[in-house]
Amino acid sequence: MSLQSLYTKVLDGHRPSDGEIRYLIELPDERLPELLACAHGLRRAHFGNKVSLCAIINAKSGTCSENCSFCAQSGHHGGESPEYPLLPPEQIVEGGKKARAEGATRFGVVSSGKVVGNADMAGYVEAIRGLVAIGIVPDISPGILEADQLRALKQAGLQGYHHNLETSASFFPKMCTTHAYEDDVRAVQSGLDAGLYVCSGGIFGIGESWDDRVELALLLAKLGVPSVPMNFLNPIPGTPLENQPVLTPEEALRIVAIYRFLLPDRALRICGGRPTVFGEERKGELLESGASGLMIGDYLTTSGNETTSDLQQIEAAGLVPEGD
Ligand code: SF4
Repeated sequence: MSLQSLYTKVLDGHRPSDGEIRYLIELPDERLPELLACAHGLRRAHFGNKVSLCAIINAKSGTCSENCSFCAQSGHHGGESPEYPLLPPEQIVEGGKKARAEGATRFGVVSSGKVVGNADMAGYVEAIRGLVAIGIVPDISPGILEADQLRALKQAGLQGYHHNLETSASFFPKMCTTHAYEDDVRAVQSGLDAGLYVCSGGIFGIGESWDDRVELALLLAKLGVPSVPMNFLNPIPGTPLENQPVLTPEEALRIVAIYRFLLPDRALRICGGRPTVFGEERKGELLESGASGLMIGDYLTTSGNETTSDLQQIEAAGLVPEGD
């Protein structure tokens, strides 16, 4: 097998076999640039020179009932994160205006917690209507939504539902014990059934193996999610993963490139942990390793990169933001 022949086959619609996936994982480090170039070629074939930019607002923070080991917002850990109830809709819409001015075309309203009560539903509906009115695509990430809630939000103008699976079914119980993996898979399926643009991905560098990474990618492909956010662990003091080593840029790039081989036509959006793993110096490499989108601005509880420097990196890579 050669990398070039596998690349050509995937360009033609082939799904890599187990042996071919193992070949990509075990490709020697000195051949990483070739792997990244092929992943970039696949990304170009499906997305041209466009980069999708999205931004989020932490609309409801902290005291989460769940115990995800990487998360500062869990009420089970001592991780420091702000704590507040759902922001007023006007404040969320203001956040959307700022994101739009910085070049984002999608805006995610993200909240801690597993389920959504009626009072919060009313706030989301109003916020979504406001975001539609200012001309930015509204997405929501409020935990697990029931079918009737998804319908009501869609009627208000919601376009995207974000719900990460985070990792493989096999590794999930080592990362979270307060709910079942199947609950998350059901939530993703409900979003797809509701006809929403579903954004579902994971976090890498939490102690998972390559098999876990591949298992997650293959499940996302099977479910048919159009958009896959990729986060890298930024170990937060007070969380169970506070001492977990940060991924090297090389390993993170290899994950993105292999995800591009496994999900060639899906949006791969680089989200949390980008500054931690890549710093300012190396973040441009992500744009040439298979990624088709970036989250700009700040993350949920940590700061992001300067948007102006992200835009410069996009230009330097010969790419353009989707909305331009
Ligand atoms: S990742 Fe989401 S569900 Fe898990 S603890 Fe954090 S806010 Fe709660």
